[in-house]
Amino acid sequence: MADDSILFLGTSDAVPGWDRSHACLVARLAGQIIVLDCGEPAAKNMAFECVDFGAIEAIALSHLHADHVAGLLQVITAMWLEAKRSREIPVYLPAEGIETFRRLLDTTYLFPELIKFNVDLRPLKAGEPFAVGPVRVTPHRTTHLDSIRRIGGERRGIACEPFLFEMGANGKRLVYSGDLGSARDLEPALDGPLDLLVCECAHISPESLFEMLHNRSVKHLVLTHLSRTIWDEQGRLLELARRHGYADRCTIARDGMMVNLQPARCSTLRREV
Ligand SMILES: [Zn+2]
Repeated sequence: MADDSILFLGTSDAVPGWDRSHACLVARLAGQIIVLDCGEPAAKNMAFECVDFGAIEAIALSHLHADHVAGLLQVITAMWLEAKRSREIPVYLPAEGIETFRRLLDTTYLFPELIKFNVDLRPLKAGEPFAVGPVRVTPHRTTHLDSIRRIGGERRGIACEPFLFEMGANGKRLVYSGDLGSARDLEPALDGPLDLLVCECAHISPESLFEMLHNRSVKHLVLTHLSRTIWDEQGRLLELARRHGYADRCTIARDGMMVNLQPARCSTLRREV
């Protein structure tokens, strides 16, 4: 993978489809490989794109919906069997999932004594950055799970905390939206120029996104996680982008696409099979 690039391994929403995998991005920034979300089939797609399981420095899970986390155990398994990893892997996730994922690792026999590395589950804290080498990652809370908290989370004592990620290194800034409840959730991450905004379009309307981006400085906008309805109307989406001044800097993500931050461009680097 080229440095300062994002590889899109899964660009689907939560509905299974034949043409797109579930949410998973691999960011390579300042020499660090960071996996953002681990939707299925993350490990298979990483192998297909020759991502080195031993070189991944951190994994960050935006929230605990299955389309963002269900591939994690297989990625850990691949780090063991494929990469023979010996270094600890930090996995950042909402605090409410730590005990469950610890048990899942044990339940699927991924004991540190066996796999020879530790999976360090670390809680995300809104507004509190963590470092992956020289990369600074700041999680911000979104409202994506507000209704789910009301429907069943509160009575079970589950916080239902989703996050977006603001990332910076070497003077470059990018944002990955995770899942949103409203385009306004982006506000805290939009207070300075962005080299790249990767934004979902399953839970917010594209119209509300472009309203939010009015007068903001975003060099390249990549739309991902499109609902099936929006995916089927890509021409309308690109026309909307054009009307809002994004004609030459809005891309609809598809699986296998790589975006370079500098210079801003996209390419598909799928391995020949
Ligand atoms: Zn999702």
